[in-house]
Amino acid sequence: RAIVRDLTGVAEQNPVLPPSRVPIQEVDPTVFDTRFLRKIDDLGEGHFGKVELCQYDPHGDGRGELVAVKSLKPNSKGQLACHLRREIDTMRELYHRNIVKYKGVCSEEGEEGNLIMEYLPAGSLKDYLPRRKHQTDLKRLLQYALQICQGMDYLGSQRFIHRDLAARNVLVENESTVKIGDFGLTMSMKEDKSYYTVKEETVSPVYWYAPECLVDCKFYPASDVWSFGVTLYELMTYCESSPTTMLRSSEGPMTLTRLVEVLMAGRRLPCPPRCPDTVRELREVVSSAHQGCSLSLSLI
Ligand code: ADP
Ligand code: MG
Repeated sequence: RAIVRDLTGVAEQNPVLPPSRVPIQEVDPTVFDTRFLRKIDDLGEGHFGKVELCQYDPHGDGRGELVAVKSLKPNSKGQLACHLRREIDTMRELYHRNIVKYKGVCSEEGEEGNLIMEYLPAGSLKDYLPRRKHQTDLKRLLQYALQICQGMDYLGSQRFIHRDLAARNVLVENESTVKIGDFGLTMSMKEDKSYYTVKEETVSPVYWYAPECLVDCKFYPASDVWSFGVTLYELMTYCESSPTTMLRSSEGPMTLTRLVEVLMAGRRLPCPPRCPDTVRELREVVSSAHQGCSLSLSLI
């Protein structure tokens, strides 16, 4: 008590010390105030949401940080709002150098919360690779592939299935680092389950899906490995060749049934030009380790 009295005395005599009665303000750094978010540009749009580049500038001096904000498109409520909520809940739990970082949420009265994430200036691999083809050698492509694997490995270790791994959803931080994004379809697997069954779905990236997803709507961690194989195909073609057109059949329009038939008959994406044997040989190594992996890597 004597020490407190002495300290209080010192504080009162010394106006430089902050008065002890003013409470330290507790601010949650993951809650962004919508008033201070200023839209700068559109970054992208998907089936249910849109992503915008914004500056968060609470001091109003134009020096606030740049963030990417994902929100629902106007008039897309209900089930779609639950996608964004799920994406927020997923990203909040993830922390890895190859996964886009969650920053927080912002919401206005009566509105669903919007997702705030770090901004990756170079955009997605699908935008970046065709433009940087001549500066990106094979070693670099394989570095990206490895980083995607490391991010996915972490995601799997947290018992999540991404369900939308594709070049359009891998973002480029700089020429030596990529990060996995878009967790809009990601599912968390219960402890006692080895797969996830999807009941209702809006639009599915079927050309990136393994047969068990197309036929039984069952998603295993290995189904992501198949999508990784398709993403690797995109990577090795600098995203100039789309799996969508490459698997199209010459016999009329491609339906889901037809796609399943084509895959079941063993048809796969062709080996990309200049894809080295060492990369193709990878599948022999991995296929003996995991059935799902063998399916996916046979795509390259
Ligand atoms: P959707 O669920 O609508 O597909 P995505 O999360 O994939 O939404 O974002 C759509 C596009 O917006 C991406 O392909 C990418 O071009 C851009 N984008 C998304 N997040 C970011 C980010 N954090 N930084 C920069 N660009 C981004
Ligand atoms: Mg996307």
